[in-house]
Amino acid sequence: MDYDVMIIGSGPAGLTAGIYAGRATLKTAILEKQPGGQMGNTWSIENYPGTGLTITGPRLNDNMREQCTENNVKFIQEAVVDIDRAADNTIDIKTELGNTYNCGTVIFATGADPRKLGIPGEEEYRGLGVSYCATCDANFFKDLRVAVVGGGDTALEEALYLTKFASDIKLIHRRDEFRASKILVKRVLESDKIQIIYDSVMKEITSGSDGLVNGAIIENVKTGKKEKLDLEGVFIFAGHVPNTTFIKDNKLFKLNEQGYILVDDQMNAGSPGVYAAGDVIKKEIRQIITAASDGCVAAINAGHYIEEEPFES
Ligand code: NDP
Repeated sequence: MDYDVMIIGSGPAGLTAGIYAGRATLKTAILEKQPGGQMGNTWSIENYPGTGLTITGPRLNDNMREQCTENNVKFIQEAVVDIDRAADNTIDIKTELGNTYNCGTVIFATGADPRKLGIPGEEEYRGLGVSYCATCDANFFKDLRVAVVGGGDTALEEALYLTKFASDIKLIHRRDEFRASKILVKRVLESDKIQIIYDSVMKEITSGSDGLVNGAIIENVKTGKKEKLDLEGVFIFAGHVPNTTFIKDNKLFKLNEQGYILVDDQMNAGSPGVYAAGDVIKKEIRQIITAASDGCVAAINAGHYIEEEPFES
């Protein structure tokens, strides 16, 4: 066996799992496609306990990685292409470089990416007015005008959160009916800061000469009429896409229709020694601290499993 624990993904869930597994003296490696991820791309984190008033995402990411290294966790930069149960009940992990790593347990923590609208300006102005996280970025939009795109629970909750900061919120939804829960819809309808624009999609995000967002073009899907909105921020909540494509038909994991991994309260993904943690699992609250918590639970249980199973190291 090459490792007791192999962790796939190096976001806060994977890194926390690494810290816990390493500290428990389990032989641990983290396989990563590339360092960074959602946390690494967040400019400022103001709600992670114990880090001072603010910390940048890259800094928090570096700190967690350093803690892994201090606990003898090895980082391997190789994309995983397959995971399979070996005859002796261990697990084989195959990578794109043609390597196979054999391990006792696996913790799958590949995260999820916000679903993109794929419109002009979205990628260019990310971090310059375009955001996928109101909890992280709302504070930068005090007394400014913003648009929120989406009609699910996240979009409505985040629009309500933004009312504490922004002066004016336009909620752009592509239908005339929300999929969000009734209570959230009621609160949004009652808010005097939120104006709902139904049956409309965002077609383009524009910027001024300073490179910051200064507006968006929306189109009514029923009439085809286009309108330019003047605003400083665009928050996009069009759902998430979990990074589970290569385990879609893998028997070691159970996925729901959206591709999220189903786990029990011990982060077990349905097969002995197979755990999942963080944004890749089906859950409701997706924050750095909840991902870290999942990673901790998965690593401790992976340790128990290794102790109980008679694997030869
Ligand atoms: P959802 O998939 O529920 O909603 C995504 C929203 O984005 C939908 O309104 C959808 O429109 C819209 N959308 C998708 N693609 C596009 C596009 N290309 N252009 C414009 N709009 C688009 O995602 P959420 O993140 O809101 O929620 C994910 C899960 O988490 C849900 O199960 C939700 O209930 C849960 N959740 C629960 C919370 C709670 O209970 N407090 C809080 C947050 C999330 P359409 O409706 O037309 O499909």
